[in-house]
Amino acid sequence: MSKEREVPKPGPGVRIFDSHAHIGWEKDPQKQEQLIQRAAEYGVGRILDVGIDLASSRAARERARTHEGLFASAGLHPNDCSVFDEEWPELEALGQSEDVVAIGETGLDFYWDEVPEQQQIRSLEAHLDLGKRTGKPVILHCRDAFSRLLDVLASWAPVHGILHCFTAGPQEVAPCLDLGLYVSFAGPLTYKKNQALREAAAMVPDARLLTETDAPFLPPQGKRGRRNEPSFLPLTIARMAELRGTSFEACAQLCAANAERIFGLSPSA
Ligand SMILES: [Zn+2]
Repeated sequence: MSKEREVPKPGPGVRIFDSHAHIGWEKDPQKQEQLIQRAAEYGVGRILDVGIDLASSRAARERARTHEGLFASAGLHPNDCSVFDEEWPELEALGQSEDVVAIGETGLDFYWDEVPEQQQIRSLEAHLDLGKRTGKPVILHCRDAFSRLLDVLASWAPVHGILHCFTAGPQEVAPCLDLGLYVSFAGPLTYKKNQALREAAAMVPDARLLTETDAPFLPPQGKRGRRNEPSFLPLTIARMAELRGTSFEACAQLCAANAERIFGLSPSA
């Protein structure tokens, strides 16, 4: 197994935006504060705190109200959308509220197979519809369901949204871009065997590129075996910068500016 690696600390003035993390996965409020603080120490001053169901979406909105650098999304993860009928009306109201900047995460997941395909699609389409009505981007999760997801999205194109934690190869990039999506990369970009994923990341045009942790999942190389957290994002950005032939600072700034644009935020100082 690889040895623990130091996270590069960016210089002052470098802005880093974690476009996808689940802060609420850490249940202890004090530890939540610590991980938000640690993120800031590594330059990760802004985080999209992503809801996966009603309770986590409400909690994300509460944190966003009380933390300058946190922004909330509201939605129902495809693995949790068996509660769609009960939870959707209130999620829809949350998604419309001004403290929520994105809709999701939604999408399709045929790996875990916890919810039947038709139910997942129904939930996904409700999120896409809400995204259209509010003008807010939709956060899309996809696991073992790429072609089905593209089929569904085709009838909603152009889709103002993000394919988060992209894990496919170079040939899957173009259809996402054609739909209008931003493409976001997480820790798997740094894993030794994932050369195809790095080729995919090299193909995304500057204006559509995002980086994220998907914390607490998928820690980057150098932190594998640990619970992932936003302060580890510089490891992924460093790898992204290397494969795109740019500097760490330029890559961080580019992805932060893209996140601010898609979430409708003013640039951070
Ligand atoms: Zn997620």
